[in-house]
Amino acid sequence: MKTSCCGDYDPNSLTVEEALHRIDQDLQPINGEEQLAIRTALGRVLAENVLSKINVPPHDNSAMDGYAVRGEDLPKEGSTTLTVIGTSLAGQPCTETIQTGQCARIFTGAVIPNGADTIIMQEHVERQDDVITIGVAHKTGDHVRLEGEDIAIGQIVLKVGKRLLPADIGLLASLGVPEVKVKRRLRVAFFSTGDELCAVGEILKPGQIYDSNRYALHGILTRLDVELIDMGVVRDTPEEVEEAFLSAAKCNDAIITSGGVSVGDADYVTDTLRRLGKVNFWKVAMKPGKPLTFGKIQNAVFFGLPGNPVSAMVTFYQFVQPALHRMMGQNKTTPTRFTVPCLSPLKKHPGRVEFQRGILETNEQGNLAVRSTGQQGSGILSSMSQANCFIILPRDCGFVTTGSEVLVEPFEGLI
Ligand code: AMP
Ligand code: MG
Repeated sequence: MKTSCCGDYDPNSLTVEEALHRIDQDLQPINGEEQLAIRTALGRVLAENVLSKINVPPHDNSAMDGYAVRGEDLPKEGSTTLTVIGTSLAGQPCTETIQTGQCARIFTGAVIPNGADTIIMQEHVERQDDVITIGVAHKTGDHVRLEGEDIAIGQIVLKVGKRLLPADIGLLASLGVPEVKVKRRLRVAFFSTGDELCAVGEILKPGQIYDSNRYALHGILTRLDVELIDMGVVRDTPEEVEEAFLSAAKCNDAIITSGGVSVGDADYVTDTLRRLGKVNFWKVAMKPGKPLTFGKIQNAVFFGLPGNPVSAMVTFYQFVQPALHRMMGQNKTTPTRFTVPCLSPLKKHPGRVEFQRGILETNEQGNLAVRSTGQQGSGILSSMSQANCFIILPRDCGFVTTGSEVLVEPFEGLI
């Protein structure tokens, strides 16, 4: 690729796809599993297939309130009468066997009595004392939920690698499964780097800013349900950075830092990684977030996020999150992205994929459209707070005019 004078091309940067591919190639799921009660397994990744030990439903049952009859008793024309000989309630089956000319009162969820195979809805029946009259337009098997029609014994219900959601927990309960084997939690150490960083709760000294990245990262990582090791702020000296790296690498699966990944005089992260471990890549053709370092120290995977708060969050969601999912053993998912009209003009130079911040809204006609949050600087953290989606602009695209179709990735489900 040529470097363009008017664009944003950098021949040494990886494309977003190449960077994702390299991460994917370099990572494996961690070993280690634990057995958890199903309620506590919410959000965790299954370490084994779950097979059903029962049929669901466990018995043929009625899908309606009505009468359980024998299909052979249904009239071909005109009508027929049947004698009601018992009642089947959910949880209280009828013990009688239905003989020719007989039927049973039945309610939704109740076991189909022996001899019966068909349910007639109560609305389609005339009853006088213990005799019902039914007409035509019914067929054998109507309104019967068959044993095992949802899940059969031995069927795989949930597959290894599935992140367990509320419906999955309910499904496990419906099978009577009390516990499941899940992957152990990832251990993730994280810290900020920068001499200018001041702790929340202290008064800013001249030249200082508050350390926001560690808080945003804490939030993201908490939602990812990992074991967190917050190592605080590390000053911009090669010694402190090295010491922090070595200590973090000792017993963690991943290390995530922010700041110090550019090529400024006080940026020691990438050099230190090169010295102590291995740098896989350190530049991605994207905005925000061009300096992003990926590599390894001992057994720990390393992500050096850029210091600018929006860059740190964008690179996390686009690269670190899928990487951590992979390490957790979670099955690969493709991000939810679709195109919508854009209600604002968007500034952009060709050369880098941009992840601008947008607000996705439904208009009165029920159609989705997106507008920009406004200023898109990589330090404007309020844009991430206002936004509910990324607007993803391809590398070669330039200025976007109002009304153009743009690709969006909603935060819902992502963050
Ligand atoms: P750096 O990547 O270290 O050159 O930092 C880029 C920009 O992000 C600078 O303006 C830093 O002051 C800012 N920055 C770095 N770390 C943080 C942090 N933890 N919280 C907020 N801003 C930060
Ligand atoms: Mg810095």
